[in-house]
Amino acid sequence: MPDCLFCAIAGGEIPADKVRETERTLAFTDINPQAPVHVLVIPTAHYADLAALAAAGDGLLDAVAAEAHQVALGAGIDKTGYRVVFNTGRDAGQTVGHVHAHVLGGRGMTWPPG
Ligand code: 5GP
Ligand code: ZN
Repeated sequence: MPDCLFCAIAGGEIPADKVRETERTLAFTDINPQAPVHVLVIPTAHYADLAALAAAGDGLLDAVAAEAHQVALGAGIDKTGYRVVFNTGRDAGQTVGHVHAHVLGGRGMTWPPG
């Protein structure tokens, strides 16, 4: 997809701190981390949002979710816990129109804390 930031990252045209790569997914560190661990997992193919990814079938959404857990394992936060977020649409604050799962952890994620 032309002019898509995450397609450009997946294609290597824009650099990113890659955490993991599979045949169909890429995980890289968020440029503006909101937690000690903040990694984005994307399908390398372009899907606009969660609905489009869910409709893609062929296990692609499963692969993205499985990668989110692999990121947590790799970061050592699988036992302490982590949050996986798909911001979808305007009210959720989705700013990049290439579906991505935020994997957040390494600190308490609830508010109020505890
Ligand atoms: P959204 O708000 O769409 O759910 O999340 C987009 C995320 O992409 C934000 O957390 C933002 O910090 C991150 N982001 C935006 N531009 C870049 C970039 O060029 N590189 C990386 N690694 N992350 C980015
Ligand atoms: Zn894209």
